[in-house]
Amino acid sequence: MTGRVLVVGGGIAGLVAARRLVLGGREVVVLESSDRVGGQLARHSVGGIDLDAGAESFATRGGTVAALATRLGLGDEIVAPAALPAWLYRADGTAKPLPATSVLGIPGISLAPDVVDAIGLRAAMRAQLELLLPSVVGAKAATIGELVRRRMGSAVVDQLVAPIVRGVHSMSPDELSVERAVPGLRSALLRDGSLTHAVRGMRKNAPAGSQVSGIRGGLARLIDALMSDLERFGVEVRMNTEVSDVTPEGLNANGESLSGQVLVAAPGVAADRTPGRKITLATLVVDEPELDAAPRGTGVLVAEGASGVTARALTHVTAKWPWLDETRGGLHALRLSYDGDRPDAIERARDDAVALLGMPIGRIVDAASITWERAAPRSHAVDGMRYVGEAGAGTGLASVVAQAEAQAESLLDADSERER
Ligand SMILES: Cc1cc2nc3c(=O)[nH]c(=O)nc-3n(C[C@H](O)[C@H](O)[C@H](O)COP(=O)(O)OP(=O)(O)OC[C@H]3O[C@@H](n4cnc5c(N)ncnc54)[C@H](O)[C@@H]3O)c2cc1C
Repeated sequence: MTGRVLVVGGGIAGLVAARRLVLGGREVVVLESSDRVGGQLARHSVGGIDLDAGAESFATRGGTVAALATRLGLGDEIVAPAALPAWLYRADGTAKPLPATSVLGIPGISLAPDVVDAIGLRAAMRAQLELLLPSVVGAKAATIGELVRRRMGSAVVDQLVAPIVRGVHSMSPDELSVERAVPGLRSALLRDGSLTHAVRGMRKNAPAGSQVSGIRGGLARLIDALMSDLERFGVEVRMNTEVSDVTPEGLNANGESLSGQVLVAAPGVAADRTPGRKITLATLVVDEPELDAAPRGTGVLVAEGASGVTARALTHVTAKWPWLDETRGGLHALRLSYDGDRPDAIERARDDAVALLGMPIGRIVDAASITWERAAPRSHAVDGMRYVGEAGAGTGLASVVAQAEAQAESLLDADSERER
């Protein structure tokens, strides 16, 4: 089939795939159920500062997102976050910088002073013992929690890995597959002989600089740029479109029957309808000049069992992204994340911010809260259907963009095969 492609879902996965397909010569229609495109990439204005309301950075691993941004004309707008540490708020209510040499909290040097400081000498020594274990120990673990626990002990999982996994994936390390958590880690463990050496190797081979980047003006600019390309290339994007009766060859859109090759880029379409996990973000814009000193670097992750704090994480947005200096007018933006749908998030955010930053936060100039739903991993697929997006690729732009491009490419390759 070389006719029209119907892309269901106008998040970044659907838009990236649509762009690749139209450039490959296919007619493309994007069908989006809501009144805007972008999905979990969006912006909002809080206290007069334009901020990302969803994703705000991308992993530099693989170079996929940077390459996309460059193709979209945003290459010069890619920025690194401020070179400040992230912090860990521990169960005992004290805060420490997160260990520098680590991947997803897994230390590359177990007895480094920052690891000992974060989890204590005893737990650090237990982690160090993993160097003596044969590489097969834990190598078949299904989850990242099981893998790290078997090799380095529970303290590393609970105190270092879990806060990061919850912050990034909104789930526990015992629910997250090794492959989704850190692609390539399992094979690196078997190759390098230990988790410690695998982590060190990954850090050494990573591109110079930070493991994440952003875009000056916010990540939502990727959506603006994709949309302007789609418009230029003649892709029809229909909003407020309810899709039903989806098969690999067609669907019903707001009552109109459309035929074409279907590419699903929305969770729960032609798949199991497991509800996703909800997270609520509360953004506070505050007037407190003492925050200029960035007392907790780019932000704070909260360890399991920390009493008196409900937030999972705090990002000091205006400290993390120096490009915001141009527009913040001396104010500071703090973004706190909560598990679930929390109508009380803004009320809680002030007290949580004070505890996590270890200082008063001054006058709140403005506040906003937004609840997001993250896609649950897809466990069922319709025969012959093509899928892109978070439900299959996993969380995060690096995975989602790479998979959307690969799927679009494979669809175009299948066309060429048929034509031969
Ligand atoms: C608060 C937050 C912070 C994040 N931070 C980061 C970060 O810093 N770095 C990072 O890499 N990732 C981050 N992520 C994750 C990242 O944003 C997502 O993994 C990615 O945007 C998912 O893209 P997607 O296109 O697969 O899905 P989505 O963005 O969810 O898009 C799916 C689209 O499909 C539409 N849709 C749903 N159902 C239907 C239907 N029946 N018919 C038609 N359309 C439908 C939706 O309206 C939506 O537009 C964050 C996510 C959130 C919520």
